[in-house]
Amino acid sequence: MSKRLTRPIAIMAVIAIASLVFIGAGAYSAPSGKPSYLNGTYEGSAPSHGGELSVVVTVKKGKIADVVIRATDSAGISDAAIVKLPAAIIKAQAIEVDAIAGATETSEAIKAAVADALAGATLYPVDKTIKTDVVVIGGGNAGLAAAVEASLAGAKVILVEKMPFLGGNSIRAGGAYNAVDPARQIPQGIEDSIEKHYQQTFEGGDKKADPALVKTFVEGAPEGITWLESLGMKFQPNVFTVLGALWPRSHAAVEPVGTGFINTLSRTAESNGVRIMLETTADQILREDGRVTGIVVVDASGKRIRINAKRGVVLATGGFAANKEMRQEYDPLITPNLGTTNHPGALGEGIVMAKKIGAALVGMEYIQMLPLGNPETGALNGWVGFNVEDFIYINKGGKRFVSEAERRDVMTQALIKQKDQFMFIVCDAHSMPTPQTKNSFNETAEELVKKGTAFSADSIEELAAKIGVDPAAFRATIDDYNRGIDSGVDSFGKKLLGSKIDKAPFYASPRVPTVHHTMGGVRIDTLARAIDEAGDVIPGLYAAGEVTGGIHGGNRLGGNAIADTIVFGRIAGKSVAAKK
Ligand code: ADP
Repeated sequence: MSKRLTRPIAIMAVIAIASLVFIGAGAYSAPSGKPSYLNGTYEGSAPSHGGELSVVVTVKKGKIADVVIRATDSAGISDAAIVKLPAAIIKAQAIEVDAIAGATETSEAIKAAVADALAGATLYPVDKTIKTDVVVIGGGNAGLAAAVEASLAGAKVILVEKMPFLGGNSIRAGGAYNAVDPARQIPQGIEDSIEKHYQQTFEGGDKKADPALVKTFVEGAPEGITWLESLGMKFQPNVFTVLGALWPRSHAAVEPVGTGFINTLSRTAESNGVRIMLETTADQILREDGRVTGIVVVDASGKRIRINAKRGVVLATGGFAANKEMRQEYDPLITPNLGTTNHPGALGEGIVMAKKIGAALVGMEYIQMLPLGNPETGALNGWVGFNVEDFIYINKGGKRFVSEAERRDVMTQALIKQKDQFMFIVCDAHSMPTPQTKNSFNETAEELVKKGTAFSADSIEELAAKIGVDPAAFRATIDDYNRGIDSGVDSFGKKLLGSKIDKAPFYASPRVPTVHHTMGGVRIDTLARAIDEAGDVIPGLYAAGEVTGGIHGGNRLGGNAIADTIVFGRIAGKSVAAKK
């Protein structure tokens, strides 16, 4: 039983076009040939005569066995089409049948409703079929963590990734991982608890998250670190506060950005025998008689391959921050002119595929922006500073306008109100002690200045001249901030205060708002099982990472996404492997 299609065709078109771009021109061909249908009972609907016409289509042994129409009077209940069209569709085993004379509008509505019902159940011919226990869609942290856990549990695993490389957004992210960690925090004098991480995550997400998922998340985060360490990954000895994290519990890997995670997980996946298929795009999730049994993919040469997965499918396709139409559909304020920090493959087609086979979506309207985009590209790299405690933001007038330790949405909304929606992030030698000091993106201070994404100077006044802000206003801002460090009371209420900004060289880097993370997605339970619109588990479908919703509520804390991908990726991998 299944689905109601509400996503406009436009999105599918965008995704199809994007797929062409990403898997190489000519590689992708739209499905063709006479389709068969996947067994099950499906609902669909379409508008007709100003009313709503709905159908229930039953497929048995791969054939359309029954079409039952329910319609309001205004939808054309008395039309001849209601009587004749179902038989015509069953006879032709196709939706493309002639309209019934004199009842064209109702005929078209019936065909549209049947197409809607069968949208997730129509299987076009494939070039070959392969079998496995588990198939994972997406090779970011969540997909790789799931593949590793499933393979460790003895399952035969295939992972498909549409890009020519693994990593998705996970490898581009700053790589901060939030977890309560007394072994690191106590020597640094930081008090923390699972309860505090829970409260900050839940309240920081405006209490919109599913409390059970938040609990699973904060409890699983510390073990995620020790698990990764057991696989050979190295973390820095000290924790810090990544932007928007609200507390010093962010772990940074020794390897730059997200590479430590992806290298560790892909190495382990390969040594456990996971088959990784790159440039292979999942096109459809197959659900038969209620259960998800596999997927259809298109490989680099354009071949359509059916992958039957005995134990189930893990959806780990990431979010949709790079899909301008889709993000604006869910949040009209996220206009297409805004850049994104995301990789170009973050198009959300996993969400569309899951919805087609009946998955419920949650929190789709919650889309996170960051105040730290590169004005040229929207990307996050190219900026100075590291610890929230040690940098400030100034607008073009040389003035601060928000606490830099605030939630990401609060900081971005404040930035949007500044002139030209533009700011500089400013720090000093406390953040970048030598020209060789690196930011979280493995870029040295020297390189940043050379590239022109940052400016440096030996005094605030000189820096003001270089970035074109009023030196007196900038100086007054710095003096006020430094007085707040002494008194412990910041003019903008910043709670996490570190060093004064008083040690040359001083740095500034121009920044704009950018779209960063999509908090909404497929609804899951604490075992990472996908949930349908009636609140029931969809047997055989698991989801983890940014493709899911309900964990971060209305606002995701910095450093919680990476931890989420590892915690729920692992859970999905264990859950799917447990199903024999
Ligand atoms: P997460 O952080 O949740 O793991 P990422 O963005 O890091 O998410 O990874 C998601 C991965 O899924 C990306 O590498 C992306 O290219 C891949 N992906 C997205 N859609 C598909 C698809 N239809 N088929 C195969 N891979 C996909």
